[in-house]
Amino acid sequence: MIRINEHYNQLKPSYLFSDIAKKVEAHQKAHPEVDIIRLGIGDVTQPLPPACVKAFHQGVEALADAASFRGYGPEKGYPFLRDKIAVNEYQSRGMDIDADEIFISDGSKCDTGNFQELFAPDIRVAIPDPVYPVYLDTNIMAGRAGDFDARRFSNIVYLDATRENDFIPQLPPGQVDLIYMCFPNNPTGTTITKSALRLWVEYAVENRALILFDAAYEAFIRDESLPRSIYEIDGAKEVAVEFRSFSKTAGFTGTRCAYTVVPKACKVYDKNGETTGLHGLWNRRQATKFNGVSYPVQRAAEAVYSPEGKVQVTALIDGYLENAAIIRSAMDLLGFDHVGGENSPYIWVDGQGRDSWSFFDLLLEQAGIVCTPGEGFGSCGQGYIRISAFNSRENVEKAMERMARALK
Ligand code: PLP
Repeated sequence: MIRINEHYNQLKPSYLFSDIAKKVEAHQKAHPEVDIIRLGIGDVTQPLPPACVKAFHQGVEALADAASFRGYGPEKGYPFLRDKIAVNEYQSRGMDIDADEIFISDGSKCDTGNFQELFAPDIRVAIPDPVYPVYLDTNIMAGRAGDFDARRFSNIVYLDATRENDFIPQLPPGQVDLIYMCFPNNPTGTTITKSALRLWVEYAVENRALILFDAAYEAFIRDESLPRSIYEIDGAKEVAVEFRSFSKTAGFTGTRCAYTVVPKACKVYDKNGETTGLHGLWNRRQATKFNGVSYPVQRAAEAVYSPEGKVQVTALIDGYLENAAIIRSAMDLLGFDHVGGENSPYIWVDGQGRDSWSFFDLLLEQAGIVCTPGEGFGSCGQGYIRISAFNSRENVEKAMERMARALK
């Protein structure tokens, strides 16, 4: 008899965004005249930068010619892309990360989800609440979460991000082995300072723990004093893996290209407490289960680092950040407490006593706006919604006018 992995039954029956899609579909059916504005799912809306489109075309042309055709690429990604990332993202900013420590992948979703496979089933895992749901769900699937008590899993150490700590989780009281961090945060839009991040690195060193640092939104950081990478902190190379993506940086959500940095100095331990190389483990995992990102896509990603690509990417992100500023001032005018949206595309809004799905329903029904209920990101998200700046200027302005009319 073929039996299932019972841990899948511990997952919430439906993923957040499919619940939202169902509600939106039902509303649209009942009100076909409403032009619904989507500020919900964290997907980009603007086209790929022209420099990337050009390189993408050239990459396809190369595959059309027998002389330049390529099949399977190098398992960690093409050196032309890994070199550009190492220089532009790390070495030019004073971080000693080598191209050989970078693994190109088809998304940070897969990498943040898959990375836990490398570790023992009984490690203690700390996960922020609220946060991108992939970290918790993949640990549930792996059977690491324990029992669910209507609110939380018994084996997970939740790192609460609440109004009381300005939505920046505090260090766990006891010892944990694997720590997920996400800055700029999805969903709260908050960022962490260097001094606060240093405490986490010190904690990881002292406890022989590993930090999985998801920096999918680092390109939105405009405040020079804030860290864009965990490797800006001394010692982080020994205790942290960093995930980055071209999805939000350059509009690659549908194109698919990301990278993960696994420093060779990063230490993990076997059952006897002997150190072993994390880099080699991830290399083995990827070489076995992943076959690379297509050549044209890697060429398109490389173009992000061309002179014109850099200008275009900056303009793209500036546009979303300006949208975020419009949303923040609208929230101020309406008197809603909020955080995020300054170095992030997300604004986290307090529902002032409403639960998050009621706030979601109110915005959909009264203003034709789709947001994301905070509860979907963890129990600490109850009472909040996430508004995303990923839309056109016109739609964001229209949405904020509608919201003002509906909620004043
Ligand atoms: N990490 C975070 C925090 C995200 O919010 C997202 C997407 O929304 C991802 C990773 C996924 O990135 P990718 O498109 O590279 O899979």
